[in-house]
Amino acid sequence: MRIRKGDLVEITAGDEAGKTGIIKSILTKKKAVIIEDKNLVHKHLKPNQDNPKGGRIKKEANIAESNVSPVCKNKSCSRHNKGVRIRMKNENGMKTRHCVKCDSEITIND
Ligand SMILES: [Zn+2]
Repeated sequence: MRIRKGDLVEITAGDEAGKTGIIKSILTKKKAVIIEDKNLVHKHLKPNQDNPKGGRIKKEANIAESNVSPVCKNKSCSRHNKGVRIRMKNENGMKTRHCVKCDSEITIND
């Protein structure tokens, strides 16, 4: 997988191109992702007991996986904090993702 849940990614196309956010979920069948607080759309709610007036809420819409890139967190990389192309490596049976610019591993938590 090029993109994983929890990744910091840059949006590379569309209205929010250039923004970064965290992958909240991956919609494998749609080849799309949901990014926390990005690509928000208004959803209209029907009135119910909890919310007698109904109303609108903001909700994340999905973004095509091809329109996001993992962000390189290596401070000495020329693409630091920007989306990068990645290269997959297989080290001791573990598939790891590396920035094509600086070769540092793309990790979810650090
Ligand atoms: Zn890099």
